[in-house]
Amino acid sequence: MDTINTRLVRITGDGEKDGAILSEAAEILRRGGLVAFPTETVYGLGASAYFPGAAKKVYEAKGRPSDNPLIVHVSRPGEAEDFAVTCPLYYKLAERFMPGPLTVILPKKDVIDPSVTGGLDTVAVRCPSNGIARALIAAAGCPVAAPSANRSGSPSPTKASHVMDDLSGRIDMVIDGGECAIGVESTVIALDPDGGCTILRPGAVTAEMLDGVTRGASVPEGVTDPAKVGDKPRSPGMKYKHYSPAAEVIPATGDLDKFISMVESDPEEKKGVIAAETVRDRFSCTVLTAGERDDDLTYCHSLYDLLREADRLGLRRVYIRLPHRDGGYLALYNRLIRASGGKMTKL
Ligand code: AMP
Ligand code: MG
Repeated sequence: MDTINTRLVRITGDGEKDGAILSEAAEILRRGGLVAFPTETVYGLGASAYFPGAAKKVYEAKGRPSDNPLIVHVSRPGEAEDFAVTCPLYYKLAERFMPGPLTVILPKKDVIDPSVTGGLDTVAVRCPSNGIARALIAAAGCPVAAPSANRSGSPSPTKASHVMDDLSGRIDMVIDGGECAIGVESTVIALDPDGGCTILRPGAVTAEMLDGVTRGASVPEGVTDPAKVGDKPRSPGMKYKHYSPAAEVIPATGDLDKFISMVESDPEEKKGVIAAETVRDRFSCTVLTAGERDDDLTYCHSLYDLLREADRLGLRRVYIRLPHRDGGYLALYNRLIRASGGKMTKL
């Protein structure tokens, strides 16, 4: 792949300067170029969903398998009418959760190039709440197909520097809008014929929250268990190893004392652990910590940065205790199972 000059531009809060940056970025998108931008979940790598061949460039820049479809981003939920077949449940969900970290799978219309959806006859729709993302999509005047702005398989980017580390020289522009608030990707759901929904990827919009709006949210096995050989997943992304640093990630269930013994007894010198600040003193190896607070929101916010930090420090193995699967912890659980390639340890 030829190297291109990737411009890194910062949104500063100065209306005039920011407006000029967004107009320029929108123009790049309209002409079929690639722009990485912040969202409330992770940084996205945007391309026009209408420009022929733009999606192909996204797959190339990321090194992503072309059967793994892209999410199409809109600045208002109603814009989905242009390219998807909506329904009353979509609008009910939109009223409650959009703009926000929810992606809904709908039947697609022909205007969307098959390369955007990996050849599927459905399309994933999301309306981000991040103001920069929404302003960019509105300025582009077209839906924006955007996967996470990382090299395929590596931890998703939650800072502009992560995007530059992975994609500098491969894309036209990176808009730096600071750290992503949530830090893990959106909840992806399929709508079921009975008025319920199926969670294909857990995120900040939880099953409990969806239960209140749909006739029940179900979580298929593939979300919490490693994919088995021969399985045909409902969402192509479920079958790939994902979110992984070069270091081996070892999630473990069980109580804290057993976990500490396991980590301490590993003879690997370049090992580390992701843990709360409050238990730092109980490990003799490198401790990567999200801070004092030990909750789902804190861990989700910092997880990918910590996994990238493990690589920067040259660690070969990183241990982390698996959380339970309720509420916002399900997203964390799912990412850790994927990042480890399914190698979880039961203590
Ligand atoms: P990413 O682009 O990295 O956020 O990943 C997008 C996720 O959405 C992947 O797991 C895809 O498999 C999933 N996805 C996108 N479009 C569809 C679709 N039409 N049907 C099912 N899953 C989808
Ligand atoms: Mg991704």
